[in-house]
Amino acid sequence: MSYYPALKQRLTCREVAPHYGLKVNASGMALCPFHDEHSPSLKLSRGFHCFGCGAQGDVITFVSRLFGIPPGEAAQKLSADFGIPAGDHSRGPPAARTEMETWVSYAKEILHGYYDLLIDWKQRYCPKASDAEWHPLFIEALQRQADIRQLTFELEFGTTEEVKTIYEHYREVVKKIGKRIHGNDTTGDTSESQEERQRQCPANH
Ligand SMILES: [Zn+2]
Repeated sequence: MSYYPALKQRLTCREVAPHYGLKVNASGMALCPFHDEHSPSLKLSRGFHCFGCGAQGDVITFVSRLFGIPPGEAAQKLSADFGIPAGDHSRGPPAARTEMETWVSYAKEILHGYYDLLIDWKQRYCPKASDAEWHPLFIEALQRQADIRQLTFELEFGTTEEVKTIYEHYREVVKKIGKRIHGNDTTGDTSESQEERQRQCPANH
C-alpha cells in the first residue's frame, strides 16, 4: 500500500520527531513516547521502531500514534507543519522501478519466508532433553533470527542510504537464502504434530 507517497518520500521520522518535541540523539535514538522508559529504545530512521514495546511504522503512523489521530489527519498535519502537499492518496500510474527497488521487494519476500522458517525450526528442532545434541537448524534459528528481523525492518523502514548499503552487501546472502527456500530441501519431516512442536522449549531461554 502506498498512501501519501509525496509525504513519505519527503519526510522521515528522524526529522519530524524533534519538531514534535522528541529529543533525538546522534545515533537516531529517542525516548519512546509509546511506552514508559528511562533510556532511549526508539530508533528513528525513515520509519520508527521501538526495541522496547515493538511499536513501528512509517512517518504517518508515527504522527498518527503520537497525537492519537487517524492517518488521514496525520497526513494533513504533516502537510501543514512541513509545507508539503499531501497529494493524491490513491495510487498514481506506476513509476518505472529501479533495479534496486525490484530487488528490495524480492528480498523482503525471501527474508519474510526465511524468518517464518527460522521460527518453525526453533520449535521443531528444539532439543528434547538438556543433554541432547542441538540440531543444526535449531542453532541456525537461534543465531539468525534477530539479524534477519533487523534486516527486514531496515529494508522496510530504513533511509535510502541504509537500503542502498543492504542492496550492496546482501545480494549474495539473499540469493542463497532464496535458493534454499525454493529448493525446499530443508523443511525436514512433517510427521511431528503441531502440538508437539509448540511444547515449551527448555533451550529457548
Ligand atoms: Zn516503545
